[in-house]
Formats: sequence, C-alpha cells, structure tokens
Amino acid sequence: MSEAKTTSVADLPKVELHLHLDCSMSFEAVAALVPGMTRERYRSEFLAPKKCANLVDYFRYLAAPLAFLQTGYALRVATMDLMRQLAEDNVIYAEIRFAPHLHQREGLRSDEVVEIVLAALDEGKTLYPIEARLILCTLRPDDTAQGFDILALAEKYAARGVGGIDLAGDEAGYGLAEHIPVFRRAADRGVNVTAHAGEAAGAESVAEVVAKLGVRRIGHGVRSIEDPAVIDLLLEHGVHLEVCPSCNIQIDVFRTYADHPVDRLRKSGIPLSINTDARGPTDLTLRQEYQRLDAVFGWTTREFVAANLNAINASFLAESLRTKFSNALIEFVSASETTP
Ligand SMILES: [Zn+2]
Repeated sequence: MSEAKTTSVADLPKVELHLHLDCSMSFEAVAALVPGMTRERYRSEFLAPKKCANLVDYFRYLAAPLAFLQTGYALRVATMDLMRQLAEDNVIYAEIRFAPHLHQREGLRSDEVVEIVLAALDEGKTLYPIEARLILCTLRPDDTAQGFDILALAEKYAARGVGGIDLAGDEAGYGLAEHIPVFRRAADRGVNVTAHAGEAAGAESVAEVVAKLGVRRIGHGVRSIEDPAVIDLLLEHGVHLEVCPSCNIQIDVFRTYADHPVDRLRKSGIPLSINTDARGPTDLTLRQEYQRLDAVFGWTTREFVAANLNAINASFLAESLRTKFSNALIEFVSASETTP
C-alpha cells in the first residue's frame, strides 16, 4: 500500500449516513463541559475498550456523555463539535441521529431538544461546508406511544432539517411488536425510515425489519451474510446497508477486521455505505475507517466512490440535492484523475 494511495482514498469527499450525536463527543467538547476533565479520565469513561463483550456491554460507555447532554448548552457544544469533526474528515453530507427523549432529565421537552440541535446544526453550517440532516431515534424497548412522539417530531421538523426516523437500541433483547404501528404510520405519512438490525442479532433480524417495518435502509445489516436467502431478499428490495465495520468488531460481532463481511457484501451487489456509527466510544474517524478498508481489503477510489454514491442515493435528501452531491463527488474524482 503506497502512501499516495492511502492519502487519496482517505481524503475523498465523504457522505456519512450513520452516526450518533451522543456517541461522537471529542475530548475537547467533553473538557469544555466537564470541569477538570483530563485525557486519562476521558479515555477510561468515554472510550470503550477495543473489545467489548457485546452491544449491551458497549452501551455502558454511553452513560457518561448522556449524563451531561441534558441542557441546551451541552447539546449545542456536542453538535458544533461533531460538525467540526465532520469538516476535518472531509464529510460533505451527514445524517446525524439521536433519541430526543434521552435528553430530558433536566426538564427539556422533546421538541425543545430537537430545536436546540437543529439550531446548532444551522450554526455549524455557517462555519463548515457541510450539509446535514437529523434522524430521530426511537429505541428498543420504547413503547408505541414513544415511537409516535418521535414520528410526530420528525413530521413537525421535516422542513427544518429532520430527514426521518430510526429504530435503535438492544436488538438482541427486544422484539419489534411495539414499533410496527409506528413504522406503518411513517409509511402512510411518507416519513423516511431506517432501523438498526443484523448486528447484535442474526440474519433473521434483518429479514424481520424488511418484512415488518418495511425499511429499505438498515443500520448495519451485516449479519445478512449468514443466510444467502436474506442476501437475496436485500437484493430483491434494493435495501441499502449502513455499514460500520470498526464498531461491529469492537462489540465482537466479528473477531478481526479481515473477518468482517463488508467486502463480501459489496461483491454480492448490495448497495452499502461506510460509516463510523460512534466516533466517541470507538475513537474513530471516517478517514481511519477508509484507511482500514484500503489496508485490509484493498479498496481503491473506485470502491469508495461507489459507496459514497450509494450513500447519496439512499440518503433522506430531496432528489435535487442528491444530484448535486453525486455530481460534486464525480467532479472531484475526475479532477483528481486529470491532476498530474
Ligand atoms: Zn448505530
């Protein structure tokens, strides 16, 4: 692997569809909010070990940021911090997700939480050349009423920058029953949807969200590789997978990077994108993830551009903006190919 090749793939303009606001705080942002924070304390409380026992074990490291992401000021700092990280990563478009009801411990209403993050996003857009949308999460094991509240917020703030809703949380511990009415209503109202599946649970969980939630975009979905029938199902419905390799390895879904099925999924023809999921606990940039894919699977500009075009195509952007970002990416690549 030549240095020039590494630099070129890592420096590509990037699109990121799957990253969590509350799981993406840098040391600088935490230090701005928590008096006396040291790098050692950040490392032990905010960064998960390189190997966790499973997803629920990893969730323990989300408690620390959530403890103080309960005020307008803290939410603004976290959002602006993430926009800065995205700019440094050369991300041109991002969909940032979070669960508003996890930020209400000190009295904020869920609509206030969304408005605060939207305002910070707008502020970030004036400082950095990034377009962004929010995705609002309902969680396993939230109930149906909670999901309806999230859906109503997504509709209320669609014009302000909320792109859709997501189902996140403990996939292996809870089923879908409470969420089916929410996703049905989302379909009726034309609200965009995605759902986490096929990470902590197997291929059957992927088939379940396609059949019961009607999603055409899935967070992870990587354990589809366990069942050729599920791969066929994804191909048949044109389902996009938001793949986050390093996170999957950290929660021990796969032992090593070389064991990860991302390249086999790509070769099967499933449209997929590459994402960080959690820049905080996983201590990761998208640039580093690209370098790992280059080093382990030999991905070149061709594979990364394809993944980014897939991401734009599966994004919750309006058609005109999808065209704009696709053209920007294609123009960047053609310009760099003609530069000596
Ligand atoms: Zn996620």
